[in-house]
Amino acid sequence: MRIDLHAHTTCSDGTRTPSELIDDARAAGLDAVAITDHDTTVGWEEAGAAAMERGIALVPGVEISCERGGRSVHLLGYLLDPSDGPLTAELAKARESRATRLERMVALLAADGIPLTYAAVLAQVPPGATPGRPHIADALVAAEVVASRDEAFARWLHDQSPYYVHHYAPDPLLAVELVRAAGGVPVLAHPFAATRGAVQLSGEAIGQLADAGLAGLEADHPDHDASARARARALAARLGLFVTGSSDYHGSGKTTRLGDNLTDPLVLAALEGAGSGSPVIRRSGH
Ligand code: AMP
Ligand code: FE
Ligand code: FE
Ligand code: ZN
Repeated sequence: MRIDLHAHTTCSDGTRTPSELIDDARAAGLDAVAITDHDTTVGWEEAGAAAMERGIALVPGVEISCERGGRSVHLLGYLLDPSDGPLTAELAKARESRATRLERMVALLAADGIPLTYAAVLAQVPPGATPGRPHIADALVAAEVVASRDEAFARWLHDQSPYYVHHYAPDPLLAVELVRAAGGVPVLAHPFAATRGAVQLSGEAIGQLADAGLAGLEADHPDHDASARARARALAARLGLFVTGSSDYHGSGKTTRLGDNLTDPLVLAALEGAGSGSPVIRRSGH
């Protein structure tokens, strides 16, 4: 069984639609894939229908952008109830803040003579999707101001850019509580990634999340070297958490390929046992 538990689509910052993600999962020889767009569950329905058609198991999920001490922490939530009131309200609040923030970034860029409008950026965001800096990059590519997302980030959109504007994101402790209350299973994404200004929570802080219901750590991830993977495994063993592996696939938005890291089938079974908000979507008999 080949299981990849972290992938993005055009519903956030991936470049493949939910159906195309399932096509890619099939091409990568996966038996199961999770859809984990940032701060939205809007892609679940399309991905679920495609997964049923193609005989792939779909693990419905979300990657919640969180913040602690001014820095970014990502929490994966699997098998949660997508209609849960408090969780839905929190995700909507985050998306709203992201939209306002993009509008402000566009105003700053335009004031400096970079030819861009907020309408052009919104044209890059599918309905219900989570707006992000990659959509500004896509608008700049569409207008032929830059050649690629990477160029847009390197010149104007990176974290230290004068055009960078902050957006609201919940503390990871609140996110763990909300995912659990929605019947979901919270897993800390790439906890020891050293890239892109991601914060590394201390073992003590991760212990507090575990006390609040954190169920797992994503140990095998493209942004983890061998020592980060070993650290995640050791901490998971100490805290009684399970470990997952995944590619964090973004289509052509990042270089990782689907299936680059995999999750043990026993872990998927444990995850299914722990989640009660939504089922894994699979054909009966599989
Ligand atoms: P946001 O959530 O709007 O702050 O945007 C962050 C997203 O931008 C990340 O999830 C990546 O997908 C993408 N990103 C961040 N840095 C870069 C970069 N240097 N090149 C391309 N994409 C990037
Ligand atoms: Fe992303
Ligand atoms: Fe992430
Ligand atoms: Zn991700």
